[in-house]
Amino acid sequence: MEYLKGLNEKQKEAVLTTEGPLLILAGAGSGKTSTMTRRIAHLVKGCNVPQYNILAVTFTNKAAGEMRERVEALLGDDARMWIMTFHAACLRILRRDAERLGYTNSFAVYDPVDQKAVIKSVMKEKGIEEKKFPVAGILSAISKAKESEISPYTMKSMISNYRDEVVASIYEGYDRVLKKNNAMDFDDLLLNTVKLLKQEPDVLEHYQERFRYIMVDEYQDTNTLQYKFISMLAEQYQNICVVGDDDQCIYQWRGADISNILNFEKDFPGAKVIKLEQNYRSTGNILAAAHSVISNNSRRKDKKLWTQAEEGSKVVYARLDDDRMEAGYIAQEIDRLMRSGRKYSDFAILYRTNAQSRTFEDALSRKDIPYRVVGGVRYYDRAEIKDMVAYMRLVANPADELALMRVINSPKRGIGQSSVEKLRNAAEFNGITMFDALLDENITDELPAKAAAAGMEFAKTIAHYHEEVENLRVSDIYDGLLVQSGYLKYLEEQNTPEADGRTENLMEFKSVIFDFEEEGELSLSEFLEKIALLSDVDNHDPDEDAVTLMTMHSAKGLEFPFVFMPGMEDGLFPGWRSLDSQEGIEEERRLCYVGMTRAKERLCLTSAGYRVMYGQGNFTRESQFLREVDPKLLTGDGVFKKKNEASLGERKPLDGYGASQPYMPFATAQGASRAVKKKVKNTETFSEGDRVSHGKFGEGTVIKVDGNVAVVRFDTAGEKKLATDIAPLKKI
Ligand code: ATP
Ligand code: MG
Repeated sequence: MEYLKGLNEKQKEAVLTTEGPLLILAGAGSGKTSTMTRRIAHLVKGCNVPQYNILAVTFTNKAAGEMRERVEALLGDDARMWIMTFHAACLRILRRDAERLGYTNSFAVYDPVDQKAVIKSVMKEKGIEEKKFPVAGILSAISKAKESEISPYTMKSMISNYRDEVVASIYEGYDRVLKKNNAMDFDDLLLNTVKLLKQEPDVLEHYQERFRYIMVDEYQDTNTLQYKFISMLAEQYQNICVVGDDDQCIYQWRGADISNILNFEKDFPGAKVIKLEQNYRSTGNILAAAHSVISNNSRRKDKKLWTQAEEGSKVVYARLDDDRMEAGYIAQEIDRLMRSGRKYSDFAILYRTNAQSRTFEDALSRKDIPYRVVGGVRYYDRAEIKDMVAYMRLVANPADELALMRVINSPKRGIGQSSVEKLRNAAEFNGITMFDALLDENITDELPAKAAAAGMEFAKTIAHYHEEVENLRVSDIYDGLLVQSGYLKYLEEQNTPEADGRTENLMEFKSVIFDFEEEGELSLSEFLEKIALLSDVDNHDPDEDAVTLMTMHSAKGLEFPFVFMPGMEDGLFPGWRSLDSQEGIEEERRLCYVGMTRAKERLCLTSAGYRVMYGQGNFTRESQFLREVDPKLLTGDGVFKKKNEASLGERKPLDGYGASQPYMPFATAQGASRAVKKKVKNTETFSEGDRVSHGKFGEGTVIKVDGNVAVVRFDTAGEKKLATDIAPLKKI
């Protein structure tokens, strides 16, 4: 059997145990994920289980994609089973039955940026000041409530202080807006799925019958709702295999419940437990160092890991004078190691917070080292991208009021705040959507003539694409909206470098759409779902040769030959927020373990004696985790060097730069944008009568040109309006 080749005895046992509850509990790099993949292949090929009966859940889209690829390689065929994230699985389930919960099945999915916009509008309406109640805090309070299945109504009954009262009142308003907009946030996806399964026995039975074999990777990070979802589905057949490592539970702060893994044997009586003990990823020294740190945690299942790999080099620890020198040192090390014939993608810099990435971007750029930042300011979070996505969302679901509010006057078309308010009130009064109000002359008559006309045109454009949504490609819709919304023209008229940058981003977005389309037919709502579900870590493309910069959280499940872990300082790592509780420190320690065990060959820890963060400089103390590493495993190479050659030179005196060079707390968009393939800007000019050829539509004749917009009559694809500077259009 191909899929059993190379497995050790324990792994083989896990693969061949197909019936009944199974817990694979093992340390990092012991082949948990690989074993799970082989087990799926065995179910299909060895046990003739129909693919339809298998559900495999992972935490990131990237992990799901990798697993699917590996399964396909083992099957030698397309994998048709559900291999996906919790969110994606819930989304699919809800798309079928959301009507039973009072939504339509084409409900919108709101990401955190949308969520914040809703919270802000609710706060404004209620006259609550953002200064006193920062939006981010409210968002996380609402999210926590949802994870614990606390409704706004229940929350109201739990109020014990003024803050609770404010949060409960915003939560209530927030919930109302989402329901009205026929929208769910990410927490709702799980919450509503669990609700659906609880409330509708036939739906539950359907999925219990369907998913006879269930597998969950990274089980240690499941939260209560995810746990309920999985255990309800598994109740009937009890064929549930979970894979995890309690030492790698790093999402407690987001509700992950380590007891889910610790209690598995209790929750699923008769569960078989298989421990994998051989590590295939890291050298002996790296493994021993990671073990010496994690063994300081009290609440853990003891696991031993051994490796056949050689001891390898010792773990390097370097303390530099300040954060810029630290970044310079790492850049220099990468440069040096590259000379021994390595690839850039062999290196990863794993930091505690996104705020640290900026210094590394600087240092790497100076040495011309290609890198990619995973996370930070995300490409999809930029205003112009959000705007165009809002247009597309509106096309998919004209009732999406949030999307409508976002773009009704973007670009500016003379529909001011007071017109928007009037529309909103009129819509509310008449019990119709704002979108329908825009098309109702009885209502628009009350608006200034200019606003009414602009609103009508705006709504007609959306309505046109909404009607045609089945017949058009996503890229056609995007192209059309870009032009007909006036967005492109608006940016071009501004003629500033900033506007040009935005135009460029919009062009890059086109390549994002193309990339999706290349994978196959795609409806607009499918595309919007993919965009909404893209999480930070998914921008990481292993094929591109570049150094990876990411947080340790995002690095879960990944591996790299060379890993740098900067910022090993008390207060940063472990973070100061965690310092006052044992639980907090233990979670940080698990994170440290996750970081260290990403390394295959070489691990380098660094710290800076002086660090500027969020505009403030501070002298630092070395992390307690460093002190926990067995000193025999560390090499003092570079430790406590005062004058390091890696210094980037012209730094101002220490006391001079706190104020004059504020630390940029967030990564620039630059790094993330590099993750997207650039499409070359089309500089050719076109005129009426030109014969042209288009990448998708074939050949045709230009029948009209207006600025950068051309109407082309294609020989087979019909008439299209195209933005000439970005369309793949050539004269022939
Ligand atoms: P993590 O806890 O970090 O998620 P994991 O337990 O899921 O790790 P994998 O990612 O599945 O571990 O495997 C780690 C590495 O070990 C991979 O490179 C994998 O290919 C390799 N590996 C796993 N099992 C074997 C084996 N039996 N023989 C050789 N290599 C193996
Ligand atoms: Mg894994």
